[in-house]
Amino acid sequence: MKKQFIVIGLGRFGSSLVHTLVQNGHEVLAVDKNEQLVQDISGVATHAVQADCTDEGVLKELGARNFTHAIVAIGDDLQASILATLLLKELHIPKITAKAKNEMHGQVLIKIGADHIVYPERDMAARLGNQLSSDNLIDY
Ligand code: ATP
Repeated sequence: MKKQFIVIGLGRFGSSLVHTLVQNGHEVLAVDKNEQLVQDISGVATHAVQADCTDEGVLKELGARNFTHAIVAIGDDLQASILATLLLKELHIPKITAKAKNEMHGQVLIKIGADHIVYPERDMAARLGNQLSSDNLIDY
């Protein structure tokens, strides 16, 4: 089933996510405050917009409340990550996934209403560790 995603933050994580969601047939609104990153993804995403997502009015203008799933892919700027997550929650988006840099960041995001937290480096290392430990692994 086709889903509607809004992805905020188009760094390595956010932009890779946009590629995968689009490849899987979903509609994706990609947003970043950095114009170059928006231009880079514009041929891939369903829509790509340059905007500051810590501004409530901007999120409303983007029609953020119409999306069933939002992904906050901002890691370094804690304030922006927290504020964007809070505003999306206030818009009653059914599902919010947020990227966190560390456990403390993730706990704050959960407290303010994120439904799911991803820790890209930690999660990928765990996955690789499990793959490397697997008995079935002949060559990596
Ligand atoms: P990655 O590790 O995924 O490459 P990164 O190191 O590029 O991420 P992050 O701090 O995680 O950097 O930020 C991801 C993106 O979020 C950046 O491209 C940044 O421009 C964007 N971003 C930060 N604040 C905002 C904001 N208020 N509104 C929209 N986009 C933002």
